[in-house]
Amino acid sequence: MDEFGKHMENCPECKEELSIRFLVTEGMKHLEDGGEFNLQKELDRRLDENSRNLQRHSAMIASGRYLVTTLFVFIGMILILFFG
Ligand SMILES: [Zn+2]
Repeated sequence: MDEFGKHMENCPECKEELSIRFLVTEGMKHLEDGGEFNLQKELDRRLDENSRNLQRHSAMIASGRYLVTTLFVFIGMILILFFG
């Protein structure tokens, strides 16, 4: 888990891949449940937990990655809305 976390820190490609996978699995799960959900809020919460454990990044890098992640949230939502 430590190795995995370190790799996610240093490999933006894997981190983005993980974000997409999270959005897809989480989105599908909630759609199957039929319940209401807030993907953005849920992802924010998870990223929040993550950033508490990984505090080596500067605020600049963190906010840059946050913007990238937000972009993927929108892409994920569009995919779910149109193809879900
Ligand atoms: Zn990687």
